[in-house]
Amino acid sequence: MSAPKLKAPRGTFDVLGEQASVRSALEASARAILEGAGYERIETPAFEATELFARGVGESTDIVRKEMFTFTDEAGRSLTLRPEGTAPVCRAYVEHGMHKRRQPVKLWYLSSFFRHERAQAGRYRQFWQVGAEALGSDDPALDAESIALLVELLQAVGVTGARLRLSSLGSAETRGEYRELLKSHLRANEGSLSEDVRSRIELNPLRAFDSDHEGTRRVMEAAPRLLEHLNDDDAEHFSQVRELLEVANVAYEVDSTLVRGLDYYARTVFELTSDSLGAQSGVGGGGRYDGLVEQLGGPPTPGVGWAAGVERMMLAGDLQPGAVAPVELFVAFEQPRSRRIAFGILAEARSAGLRAQMELGGRSPKGQLGYANALGAHYVAIVDGEATMLRDLEGGGRERIATDTVVHAVLRGLRTL
Ligand code: AMP
Repeated sequence: MSAPKLKAPRGTFDVLGEQASVRSALEASARAILEGAGYERIETPAFEATELFARGVGESTDIVRKEMFTFTDEAGRSLTLRPEGTAPVCRAYVEHGMHKRRQPVKLWYLSSFFRHERAQAGRYRQFWQVGAEALGSDDPALDAESIALLVELLQAVGVTGARLRLSSLGSAETRGEYRELLKSHLRANEGSLSEDVRSRIELNPLRAFDSDHEGTRRVMEAAPRLLEHLNDDDAEHFSQVRELLEVANVAYEVDSTLVRGLDYYARTVFELTSDSLGAQSGVGGGGRYDGLVEQLGGPPTPGVGWAAGVERMMLAGDLQPGAVAPVELFVAFEQPRSRRIAFGILAEARSAGLRAQMELGGRSPKGQLGYANALGAHYVAIVDGEATMLRDLEGGGRERIATDTVVHAVLRGLRTL
C-alpha cells in the first residue's frame, strides 16, 4: 500500500513556475523603486517573542486577539510567527542601535507573514508583503515620499485604478480624548450596534468604523470624526502631507472613517484599494507610528511606513512572467563512459560564463537530442570520447571537433570570443 499523499496546510500555497517568475519580476520592481529612494533591504526572523506583537501591535487588535500562530519553545518562552513587519523592524532598529546612524533610516523588506485568518481568495494564512519603513524623522515630506513610493510600486506592477484613502489619527493624546467622545456616542446608540462592536466599545471603539453591520454603519455616519478634533500641530502636519502629495501628483481622497487595524498608528494613515480585487480589496496600507520605537524600549523615535500584499498585487496587477534565458550549450554523450568527460565540459562551460546544461536523465542519444531541442539549446555537443560532434541547432551546421575544444568553439560561435 502506498503512503497517503500530503497537502499544503489550509490557507497556504506553493509557488511554482510562472507564479515564481512573476514574483521575481515584482521583487525586481520593488527593489529598483525602493533602493532607488535610499531604502536598504532588511530581513528579520520569521518568529519573534510574542511580547513584541502584544506590546507593538496592541492587545486589543484582531491580529493579537485571534490571528497569531503562537507556540512555546523548550524553555517555556512564548514565540509567534510574525503577523506583520513594522514591529519587528522597530525591534531591529533598537537592537542594532540604528538611532545612532544618520536619520531617517529607511528599510524595506519582502517577507512572508502569518495570520490565522479564514482562508479565501486573496486571503491566506501565510502571505507575502513588500514593506517600507522610514524611522527617525517626523517630517511630513517623509510621509508623502513613503506614500508616493507605494503608489509608484503599484503602478509599476500594473495595478490600475487603485484608490488612495488618507486620514490622520492625530497624537495619542488627541486619540484618547476622542475615544471618550466616540464611546459616549456608541453607548448612546448601543441598541443599534452589532454584537461584536458592542462588546468592544471599551476596548477598541475606533474599529466600529470598519463594521459592515447595517445598524452600526448608520450609527457611525453620525459619529464624531477624529479628523475634526486634531490639535494644531497634527492638523498642520496633515495639511503638509496633503500639500506634498499634490506636488507629487498623487491623487488621494481624505476619508475620516479610515482606521487601521493596528494600534500603533499616530497622525498619517492611508490605505490603497483596488476594485478588481472583490471582497479583499486592500492592496496596501500604512501610516505613521511615532510612539512605537519607544514602546519597544528604544529612544523616542518617529516613523512612517507601509506594507503591500504580494498576492494582492499579483491579482490586481498585470506583471508577466519573465522570459527564461535560453540554453547556450547542451552537453550530450553517445556512451555512458563519456558521461564523465561530458560533466567536465559542463563545468568548464559554466566557468566560462555559458548557460549550459547536460544530460541527467539517462536518455538515449536520440532522446538527448530531442531534449536539447525542447530546451531551445543553441549548441549541442555530442561527446564520444576524444571526439565530439558539435551541432548548431539554431544555425543548422555541424562539425566534428576535438572534445577539449568544445567550449572554445561554442564561445567563438556565439561571438563572445
Ligand atoms: P495590513 O498589515 O493588515 O495593513 O495588510 C497590508 C496588506 O497586506 C493588505 O493590504 C493586503 O494586501 C495584505 N494582506 C494582509 N493580510 C493578508 C492575508 N491574510 N492574505 C493575503 N494578503 C494579506
